[in-house]
Amino acid sequence: MKPRVFALLPLLLFAALLGGCRQAQQVQSQQGLVMGTLATITVYAPRNTATDAALQAAFRTLDEINHIWHPWTPDATLARFNQALHTRQWVPVPADLQPLLLEALRLSRASRGNFDPGLGELTALWGFREAPEPGIERAPPIPSRITALLRQGIGVKHLQLRRDPQHGLMARTDTPTLTLDFGAIAKGYAVDRVVAQLERAGIENAIVNLGGNLRVLGSKGDSPWRIGIRAPRGDGTIAAIRNQGDMSVLTSGDYERYFIHQGQRFHHILHPRSGAPARGLISVTVVTDNATLGDAASTALFVAGPRQWPQVARALGVDKVLVVEDSGQVWVTPALQPLLELAPGVRAQVRDLSAPRQTKRPAA
Ligand code: ADP
Ligand code: MG
Repeated sequence: MKPRVFALLPLLLFAALLGGCRQAQQVQSQQGLVMGTLATITVYAPRNTATDAALQAAFRTLDEINHIWHPWTPDATLARFNQALHTRQWVPVPADLQPLLLEALRLSRASRGNFDPGLGELTALWGFREAPEPGIERAPPIPSRITALLRQGIGVKHLQLRRDPQHGLMARTDTPTLTLDFGAIAKGYAVDRVVAQLERAGIENAIVNLGGNLRVLGSKGDSPWRIGIRAPRGDGTIAAIRNQGDMSVLTSGDYERYFIHQGQRFHHILHPRSGAPARGLISVTVVTDNATLGDAASTALFVAGPRQWPQVARALGVDKVLVVEDSGQVWVTPALQPLLELAPGVRAQVRDLSAPRQTKRPAA
């Protein structure tokens, strides 16, 4: 008998340790300022050195991505590529930039140009390279400067690509005013990269949040993660989304970067054709299965405005959308409804993406 008891003991100890590990799973969070915004990574995982290392590695990745994709920090890869483009010669596209550049061009076409990663000079003209003090009073650029810039040419329609047998992917532009700016997609891309890295490190439950653009993995133990959607005016949230496994939630709003002039708000999401802030919507949230698509899509739908956003959503293959018009009217799509809990006092109407006109059906 005795030897058997001894043989069992280590097994029991091992099981107790495993149980202990499971109990030791807890919510842990780290924050940092990255890509001009607050990054928060929250995990539900054992508190140990492996989790610490995974979190630290995630923040290093965010720093690296920021360093590659910054459009105007002098030594960033994208900034140098923009300078090279301004020579108007054929120049090689750096390998680091290729996958996201090609994906962004595809999404730009699919969004019918509403999402356009070639508006850097317009962003600069409006003074949105840096975030203005919230609510600061400032004058918009004079209209003739906007017209002149539009005439010179902005947007990725001015980017040509070709494959060279020796140098690989090459690019050229026909205008000195094309500056690539991935501000509307880079955060989603960074979120996707960090999520993939956390998964490789064995983390199964996490939220990676870059300034309200986020992707969720797994759950918080027995309960699902709950994602609040910020109210575009005032404090608090307008709705919460119940997580179902791996899911991305991306929001574009007119409250992120803006200034005020004569009582009017001028924000940072710009219409590629008018050259001015897009009008009609104040917040667009999309729920997708990857954050890169979600980021481009939330910007594209915002630009498309109150009449066109359903068509652009369809063209991009996005079916879970929440939109707030400047009147305060909230619309949700049928596919989002089962995941959505509206905050007390918020009313929404259902917008069927296949319907040609707005259907006035109250959301459950
Ligand atoms: P946020 O970065 O606040 O989440 P977005 O994802 O909508 O918001 O990105 C807005 C940023 O994208 C702007 O600051 C600017 O750099 C760039 N941008 C502005 N208008 C457009 C547009 N129509 N298409 C693509 N990028 C845009
Ligand atoms: Mg975006």
